[in-house]
Amino acid sequence: MLQIEMVPILEDNYCYLLRSEDGKCAVLDPGEAPPVIDALEKLGWTPDYILNTHHHWDHVNGNKGIKDKYGSQIFVPEGDAHKIKHYDHILREADIFELGNEKAKIIATPGHTMGAICYYFEKSKALFTGDTLFAMGCGRLFEGSAEDMFGSLQKIFALPDDVKVYCGHEYTLGNAQFCSTYAPENIHIQKRLKDVIGLRKENKKTIPSTLSLEKKTNIFLMAKTVEEFAGIRSTKDRS
Ligand code: ZN
Ligand code: FE
Repeated sequence: MLQIEMVPILEDNYCYLLRSEDGKCAVLDPGEAPPVIDALEKLGWTPDYILNTHHHWDHVNGNKGIKDKYGSQIFVPEGDAHKIKHYDHILREADIFELGNEKAKIIATPGHTMGAICYYFEKSKALFTGDTLFAMGCGRLFEGSAEDMFGSLQKIFALPDDVKVYCGHEYTLGNAQFCSTYAPENIHIQKRLKDVIGLRKENKKTIPSTLSLEKKTNIFLMAKTVEEFAGIRSTKDRS
């Protein structure tokens, strides 16, 4: 199984440290270097790789600091590569990224940015979604259209229920409140809102989530048509 450590960075970002059973290590979305290096040193892990889900600064700004210290190879999405200063390799749809004996399938998920990708570790049932899918939410459409994002969410919806979702931000409380107002009759959403309020009161993380929970409570992921999705997205943008 893949070992996964979460490092809270910046305001509300999560950076992830991954380690395969045969000892290969990767850092995913280091938006800044110092707290990530601290966490690596505490664990005694040396990152062979740095992985990015998309080009935004809060996911890539630590690339150089970590590479300078450890000599890690940086992998970035093909479509966003021209906007990322420091990288060594590109990844595209259906590529397989090998972290020792763990394999991640690359899923192209345009919408938030045109090049955004998710990393799907099939054997360990872990999906790293960056700012495409959040717990009870999805990323804003900075570059892509509603059609793009709807298509990306459909790809994620097709993955198995027991996949764990590791997203780029702790946005769950605000998202849960929005989902709850939008679908007050949905008992799964109302229950999850209560759970999330409880966790956040104690300053606990709400991540990882599971796809089974998202398929029942994430109204963006649950949208059945592009039009429905576009309506929810624009309502949220105005809220
Ligand atoms: Zn972003
Ligand atoms: Fe972000």
